[in-house]
Amino acid sequence: MSLITRALQGNLTRKNALQTLTRCGYSSHAKFAEHRPIEKIRNIGISAHIDSGKTTLTERILFYTGRIAEMHEVRGKDNVGATMDSMELERQRGITIQSAATYTMWKDTNVNIIDTPGHVDFTVEVERALRVLDGAVLVLCAVGGVQSQTLTVNRQMKRYNVPCLAFINKLDRLGSNPYRVLSQMRSKMNHNAAFIQLPIGVESNCKGLVDLVREQAIYFEGENGMDVRLDEIPQDMRVESQERRQELIEHLSNADETFGEFFLEEKPFSEADLRAALRRTCINRTFTPVLVGTALKNKGVQPLLDAVIDYLPNPGEVENLGFIEREGKDPEKIVLNPARDGKDPFVGLAFKLEAGRFGQLTYLRCYQGVLRKGDNIFNARTNKKVRIARLVRLHSSQMEDVNEVYAGDIFALFGVDCASGDTFTTNPKNNLAMESIFVPEPVVSMAIKPNNTKDRDNFSKAIARFTKEDPTFHFFFDNDVKETLVSGMGELHLEIYAQRMEREYGCPVTLGKPKVAFRETLVGPCEFDYLHKKQSGGSGQYARIIGVMEPLPPNQNTLLEFVDETVGTNVPKQFVPGVEKGYREMAERGMLSGHRLSGIKFRLQDGGHHIVDSSELAFMLAAHGAIKEVFQNGNWQILEPIMMVEVTAPEEFQGAVMGHLSKRHGIITGTEGTEGWFTVYAEVPLNDMFGYAGELRSSTQGKGEFTMEYSRYSPCLPDVQDQIVRQYQETQGASQPDKKKKKN
Ligand code: GDP
Repeated sequence: MSLITRALQGNLTRKNALQTLTRCGYSSHAKFAEHRPIEKIRNIGISAHIDSGKTTLTERILFYTGRIAEMHEVRGKDNVGATMDSMELERQRGITIQSAATYTMWKDTNVNIIDTPGHVDFTVEVERALRVLDGAVLVLCAVGGVQSQTLTVNRQMKRYNVPCLAFINKLDRLGSNPYRVLSQMRSKMNHNAAFIQLPIGVESNCKGLVDLVREQAIYFEGENGMDVRLDEIPQDMRVESQERRQELIEHLSNADETFGEFFLEEKPFSEADLRAALRRTCINRTFTPVLVGTALKNKGVQPLLDAVIDYLPNPGEVENLGFIEREGKDPEKIVLNPARDGKDPFVGLAFKLEAGRFGQLTYLRCYQGVLRKGDNIFNARTNKKVRIARLVRLHSSQMEDVNEVYAGDIFALFGVDCASGDTFTTNPKNNLAMESIFVPEPVVSMAIKPNNTKDRDNFSKAIARFTKEDPTFHFFFDNDVKETLVSGMGELHLEIYAQRMEREYGCPVTLGKPKVAFRETLVGPCEFDYLHKKQSGGSGQYARIIGVMEPLPPNQNTLLEFVDETVGTNVPKQFVPGVEKGYREMAERGMLSGHRLSGIKFRLQDGGHHIVDSSELAFMLAAHGAIKEVFQNGNWQILEPIMMVEVTAPEEFQGAVMGHLSKRHGIITGTEGTEGWFTVYAEVPLNDMFGYAGELRSSTQGKGEFTMEYSRYSPCLPDVQDQIVRQYQETQGASQPDKKKKKN
């Protein structure tokens, strides 16, 4: 049975609808050929501020493209939940947290939708998704407009150079004003943007759209708006349409030289010229086409899909680089060949791991070459060989087996042991890796405890799975206070995992108060010479280690390094791992404030052993002793996470906003302003950001928005450090020896 038949089976209405679509010039999708030309592929993401309607829109797209037979509302009465929300919790919240890749077809073109989460705490998922996308649809709410997460997503798209279309959703809502949203896109997000569609009526009067490119009206009729009818632009909208089309042409002319000539020389141009200019400028990110609609009321979704195909790039129009590691040299950059001829060796990137109801799934994107069932590939990081027993393409909750995948395709593998960000190639020796995904440091930690001791096993299983899936989610058992700590990108990030433990693993947990993840580091080098010796009858313990602990450069202050510089056999090689183990164990908990050590290099230079009494354990304990010694003798300081904060508000509040940021120890790094709004960029310690949302709201009459994102770790101010150390000493009681503090 063909896939199209399966997709349509049992749904006669849809079949009728397809015929209608065909009648209206919306030719139905044809065959599901596996090996389609690169021009017929789009890998897109849908990004938005939470509640803008991303899930509803995705659901509509899947419906119109024939991937699902019926639609559900996100918080609908049918209790089924939108198809993309495959996780129980997401269903309940109506938000999409985890990205999933969905294969679908629109008019002969394969559109792969990588679902991207909207909340800032799930940044790593957004980063991963953006890494594999070629283009994106930015959904905005016609009432809410540009909100803080829209700004975050916008910044990420800029970082990864992702071309985008904007879709202003919820035209039907009371108070909807797409014109205001467009002006916010220009003023708050600095987009050179213009409408390519206009609404025919808003709020309850929302009837259809005017297509400014074709200069026609579009109406969505029949069941679920499937009947797309083109008509003349209504009389009362002709003047406005003319004006807005002129505005579109002006904005395009500013961004595109070729098209600019038509404008300057007042030469006539065709619809095809206009489309070509839209495509060029959208792909090189100099112009953003703005579409409008209402997903819930089934208006504007099909033209949005057309625009995805018309204006967003295919995988061949985006440059992707691979890096060949060379010892002692900078890696060599190579441009991967996106041609779907299978001539170049296979290169793929694992961008998402998911342990779901199909078992362990790994989502990959193929960047070069071809991969066939039965092939062997290698993980570039571990050099492990993987045999491809099954290749699948995913719909959000169903899968399809395929025999081969080509450059540009998104697919999944079963039971592959790897981490997200790993590169797979056919040749283990070429050291080729795609650049790794930017992984932010976890900045908030919380104590976590299963409510019932009988759930311990499930608790461990859940932790193991979550830490593997999400590199920003960390786990640590603090032996001293017998407490388990989890750390991540924010409170909500950790709360979501806590809830998933209960729902998916039947293990309810209690979370402690959120704490900023400070770190401890050395100010300068400190030598050590430590002898661990114990003689208490029986075999003794003997280990001596000599060396130096020193700070790493500031840009590496979240790392820990260990180097063995010993020559000769004073420290026998088999005991070196013991020293490293002892060092890493001690690094989990600093003695100044109880936070992890980082930004330190441990150089083991010499030592001594005893022919009988030395062991790995003895060397491990010697490392513990050496670090305690360095703690007493060295100069230590506390590092804190610094956030990149971006605040946008109307101009009149600029003074107040700047004042509040500097009161919070913020350093202003830049400001921008257009059309009555300003944006200020600042670096502020996370520890000083608590309560900022409320302050900003009250000082800008609710009009200000802010986003923050981890930037780096940096030394605390001396008084902050004193306070942290004092608090720690109080909790530790008087038993704690006097700690030496940093000499600034
Ligand atoms: P997400 O958080 O961005 O995925 O947004 P959802 O798709 O979950 O939508 C959030 C809420 O907005 C839900 O209650 C939807 O039913 C509703 N919604 C989505 N699209 C529209 C729309 O076009 N008009 C109106 N009035 N509501 C919408």
